[in-house]
Amino acid sequence: MDGPSGTGKSTVSRRLAAACDAAYLDTGAMYRAVTLAVLRAGLGGAEPAAAEVAVGAVADLRSVTDPAAPAILLHGADVEAEIRGPEVTRAVSAVSAQPAVRTALVERQRALIADAVVAGGIVVEGRDIGSVVTPDAPLKVYLTASDEVRAARRSAQDRKAGRAAETAAVLADVRRRDRLDSTRKVSPLHAAPDALVLDTDDLSVDAVLTELLRLVHERGLCRE
Ligand code: C5P
Repeated sequence: MDGPSGTGKSTVSRRLAAACDAAYLDTGAMYRAVTLAVLRAGLGGAEPAAAEVAVGAVADLRSVTDPAAPAILLHGADVEAEIRGPEVTRAVSAVSAQPAVRTALVERQRALIADAVVAGGIVVEGRDIGSVVTPDAPLKVYLTASDEVRAARRSAQDRKAGRAAETAAVLADVRRRDRLDSTRKVSPLHAAPDALVLDTDDLSVDAVLTELLRLVHERGLCRE
């Protein structure tokens, strides 16, 4: 499941995984967690030294792939709250544009996916899952929505989590990250040629989930 921020990827991916008794992997959380390590080291995301710190942090990263309680641990500590904060959100695109960081995380993601496939399947969400991480995935979906709708969803989400979220500022951040993520040299954000593109502007989360469930059942990909 790929697409830019605010398309509802996380919510529907998690619910789809739970409905199919599959694992769930949020690869954005992995990029965010290594970005947190970079910031803790007092570095900016675009500095060359940041890549070294981020790659080093991959060894100390653990992803819990249970869709009922997904988590990301850095050095054994749950960092979910910190990785969603504004500092990490500002720096993450620069860190994830560093080729060495992508190589290290893609390798880790493929290992997690291989284990989960043996155990019964996995829903993976990110920016380059269908195009780079698992080009052979049996179903690839690319979620889109207009900038304004995505910004409105993100600010509602932020407010719910107790973070300040002025829609105009969130819209600027959504556009800034889209631009950085789509124009980077390595694995830029784009739909894989064989991905099913779903525009979620006028679709509720339930409607998107219904469509995804139809697709996975049609292809015999859901265990339940
Ligand atoms: O999905 P989320 O908004 O948490 O992702 C945070 C950032 O991590 C993205 O803006 C992008 O820069 C990076 N990312 C990526 N590749 C992925 C997942 C996330 O480059 N597969």
